[in-house]
This record gives sequence, structure tokens and C-alpha cells, in this order.
Amino acid sequence: MVVAPTYAWQMPKVVERWIRETEFEGTKDIYIVLTCGGSVGNAAAYAKKLCAEKGLHFSGLALVAMPNNYVALSNTPDKAECAAILEKAGERIVSLAALIQKGEPFPEAAISFKDRMNSGPVNGLFYALFVHDKGFAASEACVSCGKCAQRCPLNNIRISDGKPVWNGNCTHCMACIGGCPTEAIEYKSASKGNRRYYIMKD
Ligand code: SF4
Ligand code: SF4
Repeated sequence: MVVAPTYAWQMPKVVERWIRETEFEGTKDIYIVLTCGGSVGNAAAYAKKLCAEKGLHFSGLALVAMPNNYVALSNTPDKAECAAILEKAGERIVSLAALIQKGEPFPEAAISFKDRMNSGPVNGLFYALFVHDKGFAASEACVSCGKCAQRCPLNNIRISDGKPVWNGNCTHCMACIGGCPTEAIEYKSASKGNRRYYIMKD
């Protein structure tokens, strides 16, 4: 099973690359679970194609709705909303796990024209125009704790003179901006005033 966040109605490119480059052992059946704050669009069609390329048997793609953490462009839910979303996510995970245990495929979701557009051309444009780290900066509120560097899944941040420096290899996961304990990081002016959401424990 592969579990990944959804990015602009698709599996993130870094996860897609990892699947492409990894030699899987054992069963050929693969279940893909995408977490997301809204919709996964037509991501299943692309995942199915990728599995076929790898000689894997695609057993379905399912979404688990999670609190939207895309603080660079939007506000995140408040604590009560997050708690409610997480409770539902827990129930959803249990029902998906039951399907996997029984060896049954995840049910296929209906796909609209909008889903196809979002996972296709819109996703391509979004990556080209927005998915880079040029907009991140840390303010004077930075206390040089280094947590942003530790949290970046792509090791894209180094601390120089006590401040984070972004190195050009970003997947816009929002771990750095969401997980800064002093909310010192902003994404241009778009994140200003937005609530941060980050649940990984230190
Ligand atoms: S997590 Fe925040 S406070 Fe810590 S080093 Fe990074 S920007 Fe500075
Ligand atoms: S932690 Fe920050 S720099 Fe690293 S991939 Fe996520 S958004 Fe980009």
C-alpha cells in the first residue's frame, strides 16, 4: 500500500518518481491511499497507468479527507473542525483497511470533466507556475530552532547563520511553514494571517 498526500488533484511528483524507481517485493497488488483537503480529481487513472508500467496490479485509489494544510494559499480549519475531520478520517481508514484485509479492490469513484481537467492540464500548470520555494522567507520571529530543516521531507532547507535557506527542491508540502513553532515563515504575503496546521509530534 502506498499512502501519500494529494497535490493539486494528483499524487505528488516526488512520490510518483519514488514508485517508478523502487523495486517492490512480495505481492503485486497495490492499493493507493491519498490524503487530501478536498478532492483527488482523476488521480486514479494516472496511478493505474503507473502501476501498469511497473507491472503491478492496481487495486484502487482511495482518498482520506484530512484538514487542508495549504497555508500558502488558504486558511486551514480551526481546531474543532480539524478534530471532526480527523475523527472521520479514522473511520475511513478502518473501512479501507477492512477492504485490503479481504483482498477486495477499493470502489471506483465517478469522474467528472472537471476532475479530468484538474488532474491533467491544471495540475501541470500549477506545478510549473507555483511549486517552487522562492516565496518562502523567515521573519525576525525565527528563533533558529532548526525544526523547519528537520521537517522538510526533501532536505530542502539548511540553516545558515541561524536562519532557514531554501534550496530549490520543494514539493509544497507545507511542513516548514505549518510546523514553525513561532510562525516565523511566510509564503510571500499570501500566507499572512492564515492559521497553521501541523500534527506531526516532535
Ligand atoms: S522552524 Fe521557524 S523558528 Fe525554527 S529555524 Fe525554522 S523558521 Fe526559524
Ligand atoms: S518542508 Fe517546506 S521546503 Fe520542504 S518540501 Fe515542504 S514546503 Fe517545500
